[in-house]
Amino acid sequence: MTNAESLQRLAALPAVYEILAHPRLEVLSANIDHDLLVAGIQARLAFHREVLRNGPHHSPPSADELAQEVALEVEKWHAPGLEPVINLTGTLLHTNLGRAPLSAAAIAALVRAAGSVNLEYDLDAGKRGDRDSVVEALLTRLTGAEAATVVNNNAAALYLALNTLANKRRVVVSRGELVEIGASFRMPDIIRASGCRLMEVGTTNRTHLADYRQALDEGGQLLLKVHTSNYRVVGFASEVSLAELVKLGRERNVPVVADLGSGALVDVSRYGVPDEPLVQDAVRAGADLVTFSGDKLLGGPQSGVIVGRSPFIKRVKRNPMKRALRCDKLVLGALDATLAAYLSPQTLEQNLPTYRMLSRSLAEIETLARQVQPPLERWAQGRAKVELLPSRAQVGSGAAPDATLPSLAFALTPLKGSSATQLARALRQLSPPVIGRLHDGGLLLDLRALLDPERLISALSEAPP
Ligand SMILES: *Cc1c(COP(=O)(O)O)cnc(C)c1O
Repeated sequence: MTNAESLQRLAALPAVYEILAHPRLEVLSANIDHDLLVAGIQARLAFHREVLRNGPHHSPPSADELAQEVALEVEKWHAPGLEPVINLTGTLLHTNLGRAPLSAAAIAALVRAAGSVNLEYDLDAGKRGDRDSVVEALLTRLTGAEAATVVNNNAAALYLALNTLANKRRVVVSRGELVEIGASFRMPDIIRASGCRLMEVGTTNRTHLADYRQALDEGGQLLLKVHTSNYRVVGFASEVSLAELVKLGRERNVPVVADLGSGALVDVSRYGVPDEPLVQDAVRAGADLVTFSGDKLLGGPQSGVIVGRSPFIKRVKRNPMKRALRCDKLVLGALDATLAAYLSPQTLEQNLPTYRMLSRSLAEIETLARQVQPPLERWAQGRAKVELLPSRAQVGSGAAPDATLPSLAFALTPLKGSSATQLARALRQLSPPVIGRLHDGGLLLDLRALLDPERLISALSEAPP
């Protein structure tokens, strides 16, 4: 292709004003910022210029075609950035899918909190109050701690606890507890980022009280105990209990902080999830501060809770970084409603979706499967073979890595001409999108986390063939 030919084809692209004046864009242009619309048109034109320069066989799109493209693009700008999805991955608290689904009460609380509320306003006294008071009374009642505060997430909670108690000082932690939780959270990094110096003790598999004692002799100023949420050392292993660390901390007048990660408020071993420490136990063991997430096993909104002894919580609240890391009213409202569910253990499994998912029997999951099977089979016709198979679900979010819960999953085996990734993509295009898990050349749709079978059925039934 000669330069002249190329220029000619580029010149044949419609001009911005032609596209703007197109009837397809007329209604849109009345409702959208003019400069944004022009920028949108220019972006499409730039895209086509690039295509024409690189592909000698392409012909320039007409003004009609371009107007249509721009209109579809602009309509997408208005679509909500967050879309509900149906989680059939087999991971109950999936970090990429927003972890714990909120309870009806928590959702109602979010909505109530949306307007003007008494967030930092004491209605009795008619003067300024403390936003932590929205949840502090429930947190102390449920955990047995003297005081509590809440921040953006558990990473922030740990950061704030360490920064408050040991900025520029040495934090003693076992080498076996220097874990990475998800791609961007590494224990050594958070300790350093909070201004502390890391003092590692023991070995990967064994750490003894004498190791901690020696570290204190050598200048350690805070004892940190981390729950290794997402991995386990098995075999020739030993660790020092929180109670022993507290005893040592008291002897040496050094504060003890426990990062629990999940922070279960009820014993989840009854659901087949062992070794998850209870917040109440860490408080009872005497830790000065205990940190945990609000959106893991607690089942609430993303938040990080710090509970502990009053003088320490007071210092945390006075740290200027508390202001930078604090929660907004929506989160505090939803967390409050989530915590209130724990006041009635008999109805916890009904009221909190996290516990509904954890507590389901296989018989209940099978009932769900029977409901979903016919529309799924219709949807899969010509694309995949559908079988209902036993499967194992996991808690996720770094909780209980080696525990799996019995479940059932539809295994979709692609028919000739299809593939598992195509099936996965087609399910993601449903409304709402359905997210499964690729496995062994097929796609698994695990049912333990299915909270609303009607929505799945309608998504499958309304799909174009
Ligand atoms: C998950 C986890 C964190 C991080 O909590 P986020 O709420 O994700 O910030 C920190 N420590 C432990 C032990 C965890 O399990």
